Formats: sequence, structure tokens, C-alpha cells
Amino acid sequence: MLRCAVCGQEMEEESFYDLGGESLTHDGKTYYFCSPYCKEAFEKDPDAYRHGPQPKANHHGH
Ligand SMILES: [Zn+2]
Repeated sequence: MLRCAVCGQEMEEESFYDLGGESLTHDGKTYYFCSPYCKEAFEKDPDAYRHGPQPKANHHGH
């Protein structure tokens, strides 16, 4: 199971990329994202998410 580093959504590893998941290596650690939007949010402010997902900041809400 992979977990989106931004919104915390869990994804099956085998269908992760099929569902539009993205990954990124930051400071030697690989982060996974459920969508390009979450990846973008992480890239804008990596420090906000390095200690774990921040569901309040996810893009689905507003
Ligand atoms: Zn996400």
C-alpha cells in the first residue's frame, strides 16, 4: 500500500501509476502522490508535508 504524501490517500501499489499516481524523490526519500495536483502541492511547499500528510491542505475541498 502506498500513501499519498499530501492528502494521505492510500493506493494499491500495482495500480498506482495506472490511476495517475506520481512519485518524487526529495532529500533522498521517495514520496508518492495520488495525483499530479498533490505532487504540485508538495513541490510548492515540501516542508509542510515531510512529516506526514496534511489532509486539511488537500485539493479536493476548495
Ligand atoms: Zn493526494
